[in-house]
Amino acid sequence: MLLLVLIAIAAFILMEFWAAFIHRTVYHGVLWSIHRSHHRARRKGFFERNDVFVLAHAAAAMGVLVAGLTFDLPALTAAGAGITAYGILYAVVHDGFIHGRLPLSWLGRWRFFRSLRDEHLYHHTGDINAHFGLFFWNRVPSHPAKGASE
Ligand SMILES: [Zn+2]
Ligand SMILES: [Zn+2]
Repeated sequence: MLLLVLIAIAAFILMEFWAAFIHRTVYHGVLWSIHRSHHRARRKGFFERNDVFVLAHAAAAMGVLVAGLTFDLPALTAAGAGITAYGILYAVVHDGFIHGRLPLSWLGRWRFFRSLRDEHLYHHTGDINAHFGLFFWNRVPSHPAKGASE
């Protein structure tokens, strides 16, 4: 059981790097036409094109979970649980709290959430030297790139 918990935690941690990696290379690369909707100053209505990424990730995470349960592979199920937990927390903290899509501004009472918000919003300045993660792989670089504002 402890091993399964560790697998779930490892999957969660790896997701931060995976999310940062595809965010940087793919979203800000070939799929920029979709992700750009997230970098606009103002959203028109509640949804944005970028939300297809949320749905795609939810489907992938569920796929891992269902495969683990179907083929009775506890390790895979644990990994799927870690990935799913990451996705849910990402959506709640990133879209809900940081971008104000859910009534979660009270989270800003805690320094931890305020710094997550500030570091993520730094990414929104367009500086490619920013880390592209959300929970811990996210920092404001000590030497911001020039012209880092969009
Ligand atoms: Zn981005
Ligand atoms: Zn954002």
